[in-house]
Amino acid sequence: MYRVYLKPGKEESLKRFHPWVFSGAIARIDGQPEEGEIVDIYTSQNEFIAKGHFQIGSIAVRVLSFRQDETINIDFWKRKLAIALDMRRSIGIADRKDNNTYRLVHGEGDNLPGLVIDIYDRTAVMQAHSAGMHLDRMAIADALSEVMDDRINNIYYKSETTLPFKADLYPENGFLRGGGTDNIATEYGLKFHIDWLKGQKTGFFVDQRENRALLERYAKGRSVLNMFCYTGGFSVYAMRGGAKMVHSVDSSAKAIDLTNQNIALNFPDDTRHTAYAEDAFKYLDHMSSCYDLIILDPPAFAKHRDALRNALQGYRRLNAKAFEKIQPGGILFTFSCSQAVNKDQFRTAVFTAAAQSGRNVRILHQLTQPADHPVNIYHPEGEYLKGLVLYVE
Ligand code: SAH
Repeated sequence: MYRVYLKPGKEESLKRFHPWVFSGAIARIDGQPEEGEIVDIYTSQNEFIAKGHFQIGSIAVRVLSFRQDETINIDFWKRKLAIALDMRRSIGIADRKDNNTYRLVHGEGDNLPGLVIDIYDRTAVMQAHSAGMHLDRMAIADALSEVMDDRINNIYYKSETTLPFKADLYPENGFLRGGGTDNIATEYGLKFHIDWLKGQKTGFFVDQRENRALLERYAKGRSVLNMFCYTGGFSVYAMRGGAKMVHSVDSSAKAIDLTNQNIALNFPDDTRHTAYAEDAFKYLDHMSSCYDLIILDPPAFAKHRDALRNALQGYRRLNAKAFEKIQPGGILFTFSCSQAVNKDQFRTAVFTAAAQSGRNVRILHQLTQPADHPVNIYHPEGEYLKGLVLYVE
């Protein structure tokens, strides 16, 4: 077994169950682990403290267990996945009649750093973000089939864009179990085509489910603009909520196709909806002031800390345009999914935009990611989705 020895004092975060070891914390390594192999971590006092997947990069080890006697094998994966499923069942997200779209495994939030598994009806889409999860994918798929039992038939592996390319892993997207093209899933009674073959993330933004449900409650009689609509999730909920008119905008033509398909699936021949393939900033510049419910759910403006300043500017500019144009008495749902931007920074950017417009703005709700995307209390970095619902006078 490979052993990673930490520099003196560098075990403190692990003692508080933080699941990462940074490369700078390592004094030496016994042996030459390949990327993705399991290593045991020892303090400078030669005491075992944790074990996990090794990787070359700033995060050198992602911790899987703090117990020396726990072996990382199929039984380990089964135990962990069973815990994840039990949690989703006990909080009423899994095994519902009206919903078969949920996140089963949320990386660090489920003590499985580097692994994401989303469930779309009979298909699980599995995504590795670390070399270790990639190497262990077959054992994980075996465990997943067993734990999910007759809930799923298919496991689709989708990691071509999520693994460090330097690791020479050459992951191929494809089915590890089953197959088939039936890709319609249900979220709170609404139907969605899930494009796990080509779509972003695992094919759908499962993390906005509760926020979409909240939006539905505000949609009645309103004129809605869903900016950065992707699959049209918010638009479909707005339609069910009784919106007078819904416009969906995304710069990607593919996203507009998906949105139109999802609207047609739920509301065939309903003329309240129109989708536009256009850049957000251009659309906001030229649009009329007809909307009284606007959703801004942009992609992560800051993927890294160094992009923070520009990202905050981006949020400010975007929100300023919405404040400028939204009808009096309008409601703005505004989000940031950038991990590098914290809640306060995002709120300050939105505050600055509001002040610029000079309008009275009240915060109605402060939103975050849903319970099937839990935050490990020892890994606060896992809280990434931030949202504000604002009433604009
Ligand atoms: N709200 C969506 C998720 C949004 S993902 C949901 O609930 O599922 C972000 C979307 O922004 C992507 O679909 C991407 O194509 C789109 N996008 C990125 N840059 C854009 C731009 N400049 N203008 C308009 N859309 C953009």
